[in-house]
Amino acid sequence: MIPYVDCHTHQFYEPSDSVISMRNCIVSTDYFQNQLCSVGIHPWYIDQDYENQLSTLRKYAAKENVLAIGECGLDKLSSAPWEKQAKAFQDQIDLANALSKPLILHTVRAYQETVEQLQNQKLISRVVFHGFNKHAQLGYSLVEKGYFLNLGADMLKGNLTELIHDIPLTSLFLETDDKNISIQEIYTYFCAVRKINVETLKQQLYTNFCTVFKYSK
Ligand SMILES: [Zn+2]
Repeated sequence: MIPYVDCHTHQFYEPSDSVISMRNCIVSTDYFQNQLCSVGIHPWYIDQDYENQLSTLRKYAAKENVLAIGECGLDKLSSAPWEKQAKAFQDQIDLANALSKPLILHTVRAYQETVEQLQNQKLISRVVFHGFNKHAQLGYSLVEKGYFLNLGADMLKGNLTELIHDIPLTSLFLETDDKNISIQEIYTYFCAVRKINVETLKQQLYTNFCTVFKYSK
């Protein structure tokens, strides 16, 4: 049986054969656990003692159950100074590259700056924009650069219809994030709009997950 993949969540799931979930662990806020996860310094939670926070992240990031670095990135609504955010983002890009693990990005009102910072360097890590809920053209331009989009509950508001119709399934992930919704509902909604069956989508997103996050059962 091909499992559903919840590619970014803040919820605890009981381990099961039917859903793979990658829990997000925010350094200084969440307890680190031995389940599949991503670990990162979120732009809302950059500590006063950032160097200590970064060394904590480095300690956990190399562990085998950590499949990705993040969520991290730039957020114009965060109270953290911009230079600090850019430095934390850069340190996490470097860490992802060094460990050859993908990046899960949190981006708020800063897509242009984020892409500039990413393109400023030789990046070998795959990049996943989580919680993408912007207009389709921006989505396509990110996909064209080789980035992945992780879509979640915002799609149920009906404003991602164009993107859902046209995004290449090979560039897609789905997530529950911090929303009170099941990953099955997200898949069902996506398939109804895209007019494909759920098994097709499950197969493709599982393949994407195995490829991008080097996951194997
Ligand atoms: Zn999140």
